[in-house]
Amino acid sequence: MTKPVLAIVGRPNVGKSTIFNRIVGERISIVEDIPGVTRDRIYSSAEWLTHDFNIIDTGGIDIGDEPFLEQIRQQAEIAIDEADVIVFLVNGREGVTSADEEVAKILYKAKKPVVLGVNKIDNPEMRQMIYDFYSLGFGEPFPISGSHGLGLGDLLDEAAKNFPNHDENQYDDDVIKFSLIGRPNVGKSSLVNAILGEDRVIVSNVAGTTRDAIDSQLKYNGDEYVIIDTAGMRKKGKVYETTEKYSVLRALRAIERSDVVLIVLDGEEGIIEQDKRIAGYAHQAGRAVIIVVNKWDAVEKDEKTMKKFEQNIRDHFQFLDYAPIVFLSALTKKRIHTLIPMVNIASENHMMRVETNVLNDVIMDAVAMNPTPTDKGRRLRIYYATQVAIKPPTFVVFVNDPELLHFSYERFLENRIRDAFGFEGTPIKIIARERK
Ligand code: GDP
Ligand code: GDP
Repeated sequence: MTKPVLAIVGRPNVGKSTIFNRIVGERISIVEDIPGVTRDRIYSSAEWLTHDFNIIDTGGIDIGDEPFLEQIRQQAEIAIDEADVIVFLVNGREGVTSADEEVAKILYKAKKPVVLGVNKIDNPEMRQMIYDFYSLGFGEPFPISGSHGLGLGDLLDEAAKNFPNHDENQYDDDVIKFSLIGRPNVGKSSLVNAILGEDRVIVSNVAGTTRDAIDSQLKYNGDEYVIIDTAGMRKKGKVYETTEKYSVLRALRAIERSDVVLIVLDGEEGIIEQDKRIAGYAHQAGRAVIIVVNKWDAVEKDEKTMKKFEQNIRDHFQFLDYAPIVFLSALTKKRIHTLIPMVNIASENHMMRVETNVLNDVIMDAVAMNPTPTDKGRRLRIYYATQVAIKPPTFVVFVNDPELLHFSYERFLENRIRDAFGFEGTPIKIIARERK
């Protein structure tokens, strides 16, 4: 299910990130506990009443050394490209400025609904300040106060009225959706083309869908797949496409729509910080993951090179220890044919359900082999475990006190579960619950 996307635009200091944080609330903190993964405040999921949506703070996408006006212009264009609904934010205390008018001009050209939020209206007496903003031409201005959390409900109600209620990017449940993510120039588009060009692949449709995303549908061995478009892979050329924040944003969007994520690294250039960040998002999102080292043709190799690179990956991406690694070349097509079968296996494991009695045998054997830890004289007791979800496989373990299930023992249980059932390519989650 693709969630609607709301983007906030406006010149600096009108309160975009304040509003973003208000709407996102504490959610943003959930994504912080993975070592090596920096949080990013430009993109997050959010909820308003019954609506689930994603929100972008375009102000957080910095465009490099461009002049001020060019920066906000590009941010507005990103909003138009990426969003279903745009919240155009202005500062009620300053009246309409020429920078506001610049933003407005760009937004007029977009065929996207725009809701005008007038921020910093901190008390009812200030409400008359909003009337100025009718001149921007986006209808009724909504008075809000980011710092006080006022008026956001009405603004979001209006935005939600414009959320699309049908989803053109919806595929059947049995279609396996995967994406190739990675920083610019690692070879994502070349890989997509190589996959689509394979003999055994039957391309059924390369469909233009909402938001100009171009997904490729294909068949392999009778199964159906969709390659989710990432970096606007087929229509490059926008100035902002090479900025890091923008490519992260695109990656996040693609991850969200995928079952399996192929993290593409450049074998020639090695691993850089940006690769880790992108990989961290895939892991956090609970997607199945395969690590693809592309451009292997261009690497000077001896018999140790691959092992060394593999170790390097394991060191840098410790949280992805379940992800298989494949070394290949989009250019020479070497080992391209292994990709779809790997996607298939990862997807099967991502959806695997294990029987409760078999699971409990595994857990009890594990406990017999390595007794549960004690803390301040109290021993962890495990009563019972059951799988409660797939995509990713999620297990609830009923215990006497969840605090006693320390990370290292949880890790041990995870490894036993993996030894018993496989689960290659997919993260698994273990949740401890107190049994009263
Ligand atoms: P951005 O550059 O558009 O993301 O703006 P920020 O969210 O960083 O806010 C810029 C400044 O305006 C900060 O000092 C905020 O504390 C302040 N600010 C944001 N919202 C409000 C508001 O509703 N009322 C008042 N008085 N100040 C606000
Ligand atoms: P994207 O930005 O990640 O989509 O990367 P592209 O597919 O546009 O590729 C970036 C550059 O890397 C292009 O010049 C490609 O020709 C080159 N490239 C892609 N795959 C390979 C490969 O397997 N080997 C070599 N030597 N070059 C490659």
